Amino acid sequence: ILGAKEDATEDPEPKEGGKFLDQHTYGRQAILQQRKRLPAYQARSELMKVISENQVIVVIGETGSGKTTQIPQFLYDEGYCKYGGLIGVTQPRRVAALSVSKRVSEEMGVKLGKEVGYSIRFEDRTSSHTRIKFMTDGILLREALVDPELDKYSCIVMDEAHERSLNTDILLGLFKRILTRRRDLKLIITSATMNAFKFSKFFGNAEQFTIPGRTYPVEVMFSAIAVQDYVASAVKQIIRVHLRSEPGDILCFMTGQEDIETTCEELEKQLMDLMKSDDTLQPLEILPIYSTLPADLQAKIFRKSKFRKCVVATNIAETSLTVDGIRFVVDTGLMKLKVYNPKLGMDTLQITPISLAQANQRSGRAGRTGPGLCYRLYTQYAAANEMFAEPIPEIQRTNLSNTILLLKYLQVEDLSKFPFLDRPPIETINTAQYDLWCLGALDNFGRLTALGKKMSNFPIDPALSRLLIISSFKQFQCSKEVITIVAMLSIPPIFVRPMHDAALQRRSDSIREKFQVAESDHLTLVNIFNLFKSNGCKESWCSKNFLQYKSLRRAIEIHSQLSQIMKSQKLAILSNPDWDVIRKCLCASFFHQAAQFKKHGEYVNLRTGLQMKLHPTASLYGMGDLPKYVIYHELLLTGREYMNYVTAVDGEWLCEFGEIFYAAKEKGITSRENQARRERDFARLIEEQRKLIS
Ligand code: ADP
Ligand code: MG
Repeated sequence: ILGAKEDATEDPEPKEGGKFLDQHTYGRQAILQQRKRLPAYQARSELMKVISENQVIVVIGETGSGKTTQIPQFLYDEGYCKYGGLIGVTQPRRVAALSVSKRVSEEMGVKLGKEVGYSIRFEDRTSSHTRIKFMTDGILLREALVDPELDKYSCIVMDEAHERSLNTDILLGLFKRILTRRRDLKLIITSATMNAFKFSKFFGNAEQFTIPGRTYPVEVMFSAIAVQDYVASAVKQIIRVHLRSEPGDILCFMTGQEDIETTCEELEKQLMDLMKSDDTLQPLEILPIYSTLPADLQAKIFRKSKFRKCVVATNIAETSLTVDGIRFVVDTGLMKLKVYNPKLGMDTLQITPISLAQANQRSGRAGRTGPGLCYRLYTQYAAANEMFAEPIPEIQRTNLSNTILLLKYLQVEDLSKFPFLDRPPIETINTAQYDLWCLGALDNFGRLTALGKKMSNFPIDPALSRLLIISSFKQFQCSKEVITIVAMLSIPPIFVRPMHDAALQRRSDSIREKFQVAESDHLTLVNIFNLFKSNGCKESWCSKNFLQYKSLRRAIEIHSQLSQIMKSQKLAILSNPDWDVIRKCLCASFFHQAAQFKKHGEYVNLRTGLQMKLHPTASLYGMGDLPKYVIYHELLLTGREYMNYVTAVDGEWLCEFGEIFYAAKEKGITSRENQARRERDFARLIEEQRKLIS
């Protein structure tokens, strides 16, 4: 398991916690008062009674009623950890796991990482003292690989189950088996009001418990005409509320980091202008929140403020985080959704309308402490005609390669018999099996190969885990650099390009070019990582070079985590000074994402024929002539299809490693040759599967 450090007590205490401990007594009193007012607190004894009498309980309660923060503490106080068992609480989102564990540690008056800890991918803040462990559902799923009966735990709270994240759904399926073997294990599924019945039915009409609570009426207003620019409309609406309405905080729903940032900047700008002409205008505290926002900034949304707050959030604020004092909601009606795009053969994040259930959830956020108002930036017609009643569960709309790999590892041979809450489409399962087969993780019978088994130990995408594993093979021996590449691909983009200053932009561009390794964006990443280290991992060095310090620090952490897994898998960590070998190794794992030069910056995907562009900032432009063949890490969709992270490769390598797809011809590589064979092989795979099933 990733970074399962026995004891993390040496971690430095974050500033937040330190400040809290100084005001220990005062803070605890206030917090206790606050806790006592929560509906969950008032239902405590009844809830605990139901839990003691049942193995599976579905707990339903309004958002903000205290399900997430209180139930784990009740279980703890009730003695469910007495014999060393852990209380595990899963969250579909990393931000929520982090923020909530912090809150609970404060409520309990303990240091985060001691009795209360959290674990998210590449980051483990638990210790041997930890009794309440918050984690993403992905982490618990990984733990189930090494500990199939989850023996460490006495209770599991599957929080936010209504979100129907892929990992939550898979875990629920696994629990069917686990619960029959571990009669002592409690499973508590918490859900906002939607979907609760379905969970109960899934576990044989499990007991339901509803936390009584009151909400206030929220007046909902629709836009009269369809909105063109949702950022501009949101800004306008927020300012209108701020200028005209009585006190109360504002919550605005956007889709992701970019539009949140634009909204915040635009708000700032317009308010500054307004303040120039009106010095009685009260300031507005503008607070963004999205998953990649650094933790210290995330925590700010909960702090008391003298002024009106305006939180601009992704759908994280729909149910997983509750900010008190919200009276106004501005809802764009949109969200970013991961959708599998069969044409591109990959998941893409698309901006899509939310469902009606989510729209109601969003407006409900205004009525927690008193009557509220919700401004919907879409028409009533759109709501009635363009929105689904309920969101589509993730399992039915994403690539399942990773999931299938894990299920195969758990010896779920027959996927048709796995208890899915909602079944994924059969084509998605087949595509995933096919992709895994291409990467050598499955054999012709759909069984896990030795390579596939190794791959399932890495908490990353199958192509990347394959890359790590083969990099230690004798042929390549470049695992040190490849670990760096994978770590650098796992962090947000590292280049800073100042927004509004043309001169600074040119400076940052020329510095970036200085770092570039002409043949490869991947090697450019290695170069930067190595320079960051040899320059002492300093923040000053980063800002001088227009690089994100925090991201690079994270890359170093991830590097060490991945190295640990490599060691535990008995994979040698070796450095290779010949960077051509590294390119070859990249080709051996990403041959399925290869493209041939067409003209200018244009390439054509060798398998699908899709036209793709080289990104204007690609290192390859440093080569003079662009290379004939490249592999790429991912596609970016910004109007056009851009390849992101591109490396030049030899045609010969493509034929060598990707022989299931490509063959060499005089004119170059062709993929047609193998098409028939590939389809035949795959048809056999599916046929064998069917035999296994029947
Ligand atoms: P639920 O899970 O039922 O939606 P929560 O347990 O998340 O409810 O929230 C209960 C209360 O705790 C809310 O009033 C919320 O504002 C408060 N709360 C949660 N996290 C924090 C935090 N980090 N700082 C301050 N208050 C918080
Ligand atoms: Mg919650």
